[in-house]
Amino acid sequence: MITAKTIEETRKAVREARAAGKEIGFVPTMGALHEGHLSLVSIAKKHADFIVMSIFVNRIQFNDPKDFDKYPRDFDKDLSLAEKAGVDMVFLPDETVMYNNPLTFVDTSSLDRYLCGASRPGHFRGVCTVVTKLFNIVQPDTAVFGQKDIQQVRIVEKMAEDLNIPVSIIIAPIRRENDGLAMSSRNIHLSNEQRKQALCLSESLQTAKKLIEKGETSTAAIIREVEAEIKKGSPDSIDYISIVSYETLEPIKTLSTKSVLAAAAFFGSTRLIDNMIITEGDSIQ
Ligand code: AMP
Repeated sequence: MITAKTIEETRKAVREARAAGKEIGFVPTMGALHEGHLSLVSIAKKHADFIVMSIFVNRIQFNDPKDFDKYPRDFDKDLSLAEKAGVDMVFLPDETVMYNNPLTFVDTSSLDRYLCGASRPGHFRGVCTVVTKLFNIVQPDTAVFGQKDIQQVRIVEKMAEDLNIPVSIIIAPIRRENDGLAMSSRNIHLSNEQRKQALCLSESLQTAKKLIEKGETSTAAIIREVEAEIKKGSPDSIDYISIVSYETLEPIKTLSTKSVLAAAAFFGSTRLIDNMIITEGDSIQ
């Protein structure tokens, strides 16, 4: 596995892979890798032959500097996990490689008005900017993002369409611990007690799933039940519980063709998110 710290090294390896007839698959991450990240790699391998993973903790997408400082970092372990998962190259840039007093940023309008965008101002501007830069550096044919960060993948999908970036975006399902907790790099901040409490997020989605399968389409009714279930876990606060259209990410009153139920809550100072895609007459993921 190649570990590239510079843009030049990365481009050279990608150029060579392409010259050898390989398709380029890309998995952007902020490190602290877990099975969720590695599942993205195995999906990328189904679509491409040369897999690039980036590991970069992107300061400009953190609206809280304390969250950036305490974000888990273990690059040696990450490199060994990436290699075992079959990644061909890790792009591991320093901040100075990525940002040199930038004056240009990529933003999204309206898709960041609700869900995480509402409580994390500037977050998606940071995400769009770094993902655009990474797409320009790696120039992948395919990039895989997790449904875990549903607003992120929807925004990236629209951004690639709007800016004519020639990449196909694939959404990977949420990987969960055996008891249902969505895997997240932030889970290591949870105490044993908070870890148990946090289960209420995935359990609330199961409650919603049952309700929807019985035919409930009123989002207010679904949200009421989800809220009651989340409160059973006594989170320190609930950031949001919303049902939005997948297309616009705006709240809806009744379930539409493709809707998203998403929730965020704090357990201590750790903010966790979870979500479910509800497709009419089809599956609930
Ligand atoms: P992060 O390192 O948190 O920025 O995540 C990098 C990528 O991994 C993003 O596309 C995330 O959506 C994805 N990801 C994070 N957690 C999971 C999970 N539990 N299951 C699937 N994908 C995930």
